[in-house]
Amino acid sequence: MPVLRDAASPEVPDADADAETEAVAATAAADAVRAAALLTWGERVRRDLPWRATRDPWAILVAELMLQQTQVPRVLTRYATFLTRFPDPATCAAAPPAAVVQAWEGLGYNRRAVSLHRAATAIVDEHGGAVPADLAALVALPGVGPYTARAVLAFAFERDHGVLDTNAARFLARAVAGERLRPAAAQRLADAQVPPGEGWAWNQAVLDLGATICVKRAPRCDACPIRAHCRWRVDGYPSPDPAEGSAGTSGRQSTFVGSDRQGRGRLVQALRTGPVEVTRIADAAGWPDDPDRAQRVADGLVGDGLAEYADGQLALPA
Ligand code: SF4
Repeated sequence: MPVLRDAASPEVPDADADAETEAVAATAAADAVRAAALLTWGERVRRDLPWRATRDPWAILVAELMLQQTQVPRVLTRYATFLTRFPDPATCAAAPPAAVVQAWEGLGYNRRAVSLHRAATAIVDEHGGAVPADLAALVALPGVGPYTARAVLAFAFERDHGVLDTNAARFLARAVAGERLRPAAAQRLADAQVPPGEGWAWNQAVLDLGATICVKRAPRCDACPIRAHCRWRVDGYPSPDPAEGSAGTSGRQSTFVGSDRQGRGRLVQALRTGPVEVTRIADAAGWPDDPDRAQRVADGLVGDGLAEYADGQLALPA
């Protein structure tokens, strides 16, 4: 009597399926070894930073917003003072926006101060004053994008999300993928690489590695804790560098001197000392010979909620 075979069961072993299974297992093993090496290194070299010594979601949110476009040393000069003045969302929401803009002095990109005040207001109005531990709710807050939302989840709530900034994207493209990554693929890979239960430590280590070892130009591979498990290095550094053009790695800061941003900064700085007569806006912006440009920039500040017109003057928002 003939043996009836399940149609899904091949008569001979499927060599392709076996090879694929082996490849998946090898990738998982390499990921695990790389993760262990990186976690060990991260624990050894981790810098003492105030936002790493807390799990207070508000303190983490403030830090992440400050760090979005400001270097660590400068953030360190303002962070503690800011949190003393605004220790929780309720205190921040109850203050006038002008007070938050004042406390933001020295950090630049002042629009973030207005966003933070609006986020605090939303946290009070919609979440009972507690920073939500939910990706969709965080992304819905003013000034909070996917990076900042995941950073809050990983660093305050210790969730296993991949925090994908420029440094992390560079590491993933070079060491893990060995090829350029588009944004969606980079985020998927970032999430998949987090060792279970290690969201906090893993993301800190990845950010540190990208900032100090796997740097944009001339990565310090000899000092890299995962050099034996880096795809790009093991493959012999094929050109182009996988980090070039990968998600989050191509952004370039525009020149500051002579830019509208410089005029905005001067105007906000002038407003911190008090209202500016509308007739003096061009002087305050540093463009006495270009009042039209100064006016456009002032209008932009008003549009962004950073200033308002009242009684022939431009002032910080009350
Ligand atoms: S071996 Fe070099 S390229 Fe690879 S992750 Fe380390 S520093 Fe980056």
